[in-house]
Amino acid sequence: MNIQNVLKGITIAIDGPSGAGKSTVAKLVARRLGYTYIDTGAMYRATAWKGNVFGLTLDNEQAWVDLAKTIRIAFPPDKDGGQRVLVDGMDITTQIRTPLITQLSSPVSAIPGVRRALVSLQQAMGRNGGVVMEGRDIGTVVFPNAELKIFIYASESTRAERRWKECQARGEDITLEQVLDSQRERDKRDSERADSPLKPAPESIMIDSDRLSIQVVVDKILALCKDKGAL
Ligand code: C5P
Repeated sequence: MNIQNVLKGITIAIDGPSGAGKSTVAKLVARRLGYTYIDTGAMYRATAWKGNVFGLTLDNEQAWVDLAKTIRIAFPPDKDGGQRVLVDGMDITTQIRTPLITQLSSPVSAIPGVRRALVSLQQAMGRNGGVVMEGRDIGTVVFPNAELKIFIYASESTRAERRWKECQARGEDITLEQVLDSQRERDKRDSERADSPLKPAPESIMIDSDRLSIQVVVDKILALCKDKGAL
């Protein structure tokens, strides 16, 4: 046991492509440890949502950067143990999950000035440790000194099926092929963009979630936390 790590809490970076199961796993790990959970994808989505409300077009990069520099994002807990997403005080938890915002958040997140603004917000949110932060570049850019870095991946088809089921649960009229096409486009953009592409940090622990249950992945991460003296 490391008293410092137990008292202050460590920083856990969880990265990976969409649909790999990061959010579910990250939330459960945070709950078990009593840590703060931060979904950085929701921050890019929130920015895309606000820009869309203002009618910003993708060619006007400076307007997106200005918006990202001033946006106020909060993640208050909800009564079911989950988290809400507030932008400038307005609850947009469900609005940021529509197919339109899912699509738009990808090119918006590739604008370097938007990334700089949101990364500095993320660093401020996780400054005190005791945090599980989930995204694409947490272990490489946001917290390169994180005590624990996890990269969760799964096959393209498993990820698309998971996303499709989520869409169906929300009553969205979308086919599995459409989900797969949109996922391929976002994967390509996320991993090929010049600024902070999706990739594991060299010291990341790689977890293939294809054949593992959520509980097994969570237990693996908790065992790693114990090795780091956080439990
Ligand atoms: O994880 P989620 O699908 O909600 O993320 C929405 C979008 O935000 C992704 O398509 C990805 O391009 C972007 N993103 C990012 N960096 C992060 C988190 C998300 O570029 N740290």
